[in-house]
Amino acid sequence: MSAPTARAEVFSVAPYVGGESALPGFTTPLKLSSNEGAFGPPPGAIKALAKAGATMHRYPDGGATALRRAIGETFGLNPERIVCGNGSDEILSLLIQSYGGPGTELIMSAHGFAIYEIAGKLAGCTVLKAAERNLTTDVDAILALVTPATKMVFIANPNNPTGTLLPQSEMERLRAALPAEVLLVIDAAYAEYVDSPGYNPGTALVDAGENCVMTRTFSKIFGLGGVRLGWGYAPANVIDVLNRTRPPFNVNAFAAAAGIAALAEPGWLEKGRAHNTQARARLTARLTQIGIKTHPSEANFILADFTMAERALAADEFLRSRGIIVRRVASYGLPHCLRITIGTDDECNLVATALADFTHG
Ligand SMILES: *Cc1c(COP(=O)(O)O)cnc(C)c1O
Repeated sequence: MSAPTARAEVFSVAPYVGGESALPGFTTPLKLSSNEGAFGPPPGAIKALAKAGATMHRYPDGGATALRRAIGETFGLNPERIVCGNGSDEILSLLIQSYGGPGTELIMSAHGFAIYEIAGKLAGCTVLKAAERNLTTDVDAILALVTPATKMVFIANPNNPTGTLLPQSEMERLRAALPAEVLLVIDAAYAEYVDSPGYNPGTALVDAGENCVMTRTFSKIFGLGGVRLGWGYAPANVIDVLNRTRPPFNVNAFAAAAGIAALAEPGWLEKGRAHNTQARARLTARLTQIGIKTHPSEANFILADFTMAERALAADEFLRSRGIIVRRVASYGLPHCLRITIGTDDECNLVATALADFTHG
């Protein structure tokens, strides 16, 4: 018997495994494994979703016009240079399908976000990983990997799972040194959490030419991971490509309605950022006090370093015994670390207390 076989590229990747959400023995475990934002969904978005139900027999606006206008107003960007997607993952995949493919090379950093490698391999690209320095993207290591086959470079800034930030001067140096025909994709999924002075999420480099794209998401600070909504900001040539390759109704009516309401929620962004900055500092200080090393994070999570893989696993098991789920990052080449999402103050206290008990017990 012979069965249909998929393209060979399909079998070059393992199915994506996201942060876990269930824990046997706990009806409501504390989920700090997917960086979903500390405060749940914006109340206005919940109302907007319910309202959108009344017209769900209608196809959504394929151009996501109202949503793009709202994003443009919030972030001071031209809506014509915005394209929305089913999560920013979709935008990243569309970029790779459009600019990558067999015979092309894609460069990412050693501990860069997993989707670049998965989508790159699926599209038939050769994926190259540049070594990092202090768990931070190293521009020179990336440049050393560039060949005539290089089509795309992906940088998450801040990066997930390391949380580290590449200064704007380094981003600019990278763009200037890359060949003009190489597309630089700046994944700014955590942009709203950054409070480092001089940070630019990617808009400056997008505006400066025809070869940079910035991607953003509603899944983190805006608390809409469940409806799947992301967007990209790009020069006209790239927007044209994305509008040809994206499915016609890739942003559904509920996602668009929730996104518009989330942007309009008074003070939501400011509250989320302010909380994150102080809660992240406090949790970092407590972990340091306990003797657990952390890496400097500009995002809504902390990478805790347990030095040895066995110790990270033991810490994870201990947290699970308390009903707390964090993220193992062995698949990112960091088996000695755990990534911990910044939750509410109470949630941060629970995880800090559990880790103190783990270290002293
Ligand atoms: C969470 C995350 C995304 C995915 O966002 P979606 O919009 O939910 O697809 C993209 N990039 C990075 C670095 C992330 O951490």
